[in-house]
Amino acid sequence: MGKGPQRIRGTQDIWGEEADRFQKVVETFERVRRLYAFQRIEVPVFEATEVFARSIGETTDIVSKEMYTFPDRGGDSLTLRPEFTAGICRAYLSEGWQQHAPMKVATHGPVFRYERPQKGRFRQFHQLDAEIIGSDSPLADVELLVFADQLLHELGIAEGVTLQLNTLGDRPTRQAWQTANTDYFSAHVSSLSPDSRIRLERNVLRILDSKDPGDRELIKDAPKVDNYLSPEAGSFYECVKVGLKSADVRFVENPRLVRGLDYYTHTAFEFVTDRLGAQGTVLAGGRYDGLIEAVGGPHTPAVGWAAGIERLAMMIEAPASEDVQLSVVTADEVGRSYAQELIHSLRRKGLRCEQYFSGNLRKQLARANKRGANLALILGEGEAKDRGFTLLNLRSGQQFLGKLEDLEGSIDRELKIVPEKPLIHSPFSEY
Ligand code: ATP
Ligand code: MG
Repeated sequence: MGKGPQRIRGTQDIWGEEADRFQKVVETFERVRRLYAFQRIEVPVFEATEVFARSIGETTDIVSKEMYTFPDRGGDSLTLRPEFTAGICRAYLSEGWQQHAPMKVATHGPVFRYERPQKGRFRQFHQLDAEIIGSDSPLADVELLVFADQLLHELGIAEGVTLQLNTLGDRPTRQAWQTANTDYFSAHVSSLSPDSRIRLERNVLRILDSKDPGDRELIKDAPKVDNYLSPEAGSFYECVKVGLKSADVRFVENPRLVRGLDYYTHTAFEFVTDRLGAQGTVLAGGRYDGLIEAVGGPHTPAVGWAAGIERLAMMIEAPASEDVQLSVVTADEVGRSYAQELIHSLRRKGLRCEQYFSGNLRKQLARANKRGANLALILGEGEAKDRGFTLLNLRSGQQFLGKLEDLEGSIDRELKIVPEKPLIHSPFSEY
């Protein structure tokens, strides 16, 4: 461990291959959300505490024990966002965006939860998020699920991930199902974990989301939602399943899947993998028709999902590192000033160039090679005097001399014939 201040427990410093993976997840998400015509949205990293407390629900793990809440200098209670949905719904109401309904929006960025850090679980982590606000059509649920499925395919990880699907039904369904669960768990209260005894009092369905092994045993025989579905809720669920089938998205039904947050209705889903140990949910979401009303807005049906960028990044193959097309290496002081004339104009023409601020020729070439550069442009006193250049193809080992007016042509030609794989021998052993 280095000296000086250390990072805060549960936060991350990301660099190198890990940063490339992270970036690939974000870029793929950005590309796919455009295919589905979701617009970008940006919302604040912090909000008034009540924005989260009210919309996520006081009895959830997030609100009851995971939020970063602090008084600001004016004495207002603020909270770092633990997820995106609440802030987006707050914005929808306070900005008067109802006129744009249905709004299809997507975003990504850091979120904060005070949890026990472990593999795949951080206190500052990052989410992708997609929401459709203002539509009660099951086609909206389907579109979000197909979007998620395509994202996982394009990241190359769909094979190891299963979509688990359930419905929580509408209000009448939920009430009947809730009562059945209250009866069931009340009869087994002595076997419940302390946390779940509290859930039994406050919000019984939350027990179904418990990770306690004893609770999990009991949950196996808890009443399933299927038996309590109202006809409307049943046909809504049917439409979602038909939509998924016609889009060729595979899923398994999990009649005990509930989501952690309050106000979820109808569709609930998780994309789950067994490749990440206990932290197996990579993407999760559902319909939350009750939320906006619960925070004081008009009845507004909505559906959305969030995915952990770190968990996705851990699963994908490492992308090829961002390649440098050309490294400018200099033999002496004269070469260095000559290089300044050339490198900026090459970049302005769109070439990915790197230069080195110090070090002898050999060291600079070693760096260029390590960085995976295709070409090295070698400049020294000789080249400067002739207004010429030496161009070394680091893949083939071939070297070319030329005059400045031929530089671009030579670079173009050499970049096009770069072999796929680097050659084994060191191309610059002659130096
Ligand atoms: P979990 O059951 O793992 O605690 P959750 O239900 O709390 O997840 P959501 O609130 O649905 O998670 O967040 C969506 C996604 O964000 C999760 O599926 C997961 O990929 C990711 N995620 C949640 N909490 C963390 C965390 N502490 N660190 C890293 N990623 C996380
Ligand atoms: Mg959690």
